[in-house]
Amino acid sequence: MRKAKNNKNVPKRYYRPTLTTCPRCGALLRRCWTLWDKYLVTLAGRVHIFSLGYSCSRPRCSQIIYRSVDAEQMSPKGYSFGFDLIVQIGWWRFWEHRTLDEIAMLLKAKHLPISRRHILNLIGDFLALLRAAQPAKIEAHRDYFQRHGLVLSLDGMEPEQGNEMLFIVREANLDLTLVAETLYSSRADLISRQLLEPVKALGFRIRAVVSDADKNIRRAVEASLSGCPHQACQVHCLCEAGQPIFEADRAMKTDLRRDIRAKLRPISRGLSQSSQEDPQVAVLTDYSEALRDALRADGVSPFKLAGLKLYAELQRLETSLRHCQKKGGILSCLPCLTSRPFATNMLSRMPN
Ligand SMILES: [Zn+2]
Repeated sequence: MRKAKNNKNVPKRYYRPTLTTCPRCGALLRRCWTLWDKYLVTLAGRVHIFSLGYSCSRPRCSQIIYRSVDAEQMSPKGYSFGFDLIVQIGWWRFWEHRTLDEIAMLLKAKHLPISRRHILNLIGDFLALLRAAQPAKIEAHRDYFQRHGLVLSLDGMEPEQGNEMLFIVREANLDLTLVAETLYSSRADLISRQLLEPVKALGFRIRAVVSDADKNIRRAVEASLSGCPHQACQVHCLCEAGQPIFEADRAMKTDLRRDIRAKLRPISRGLSQSSQEDPQVAVLTDYSEALRDALRADGVSPFKLAGLKLYAELQRLETSLRHCQKKGGILSCLPCLTSRPFATNMLSRMPN
């Protein structure tokens, strides 16, 4: 079931026109009514925006309503997401090559929990905005392109099986978008027709193409830009190479969690039943808290490996516990933490 949003603590922001006097007669403008209000998700958080309408205080020109330009420019009409958010997500995706999971994490860190579905929609909106703004920019670089030609980078994103593909073709030297398109399939002929042919139609010499190693893209480049050098994108290769490692790491994390939680349970029970006055109990409770914290860590594909992080954290705790034991500070009542096997076990599960 969809949870209703809690709007109680959302800050309110009121927008007024920059004019304070009537441009026709010079009389003071006065507030007439709220033109619209809406909840908006921006990079800085959720806000409740009010756009206040003002009109001339003299009856003869009171029919003209003045409004805030800033309020109108915060988001596309009828949208509950701000332009700043849409542009940031597009930047993460197409300039920093972030995966959908990474973008979700970045948003979560900003306390903007936006679902994967919404992120995808916003990427689509970003492409639409880009499309609208690009012709003028391309025109501004006409001289450069005529002299140096184009190095194309072609980036596609298949959000989920059966969904539309989001594509962007950029000039790699200037980092300038040439075509941004949503395709209903990643077929080679569609890529050719809707992405490469429009770039060819710009009339500049195309010197090279960079993309991921997708076979449809390769075929499309061969068909439309025959003879043009085509290189695989290093970021994509690295991400794809990282995927099996990420999966293996996740499996290791799951095993580690299960083993440690099973061993920790009876110890936690024992600790909660012991006298809280005992300083040893306090120290051990801290350790078990630290352990529980470490077990909660999550990874992000492709490079943030939670299993390895957890493994390192367990080793750190183990060393610390052994140190305590040596000093005689605590009883050796945590056999699960001070026994080697779980750590060596886990190492053997890592891929070679
Ligand atoms: Zn007036």
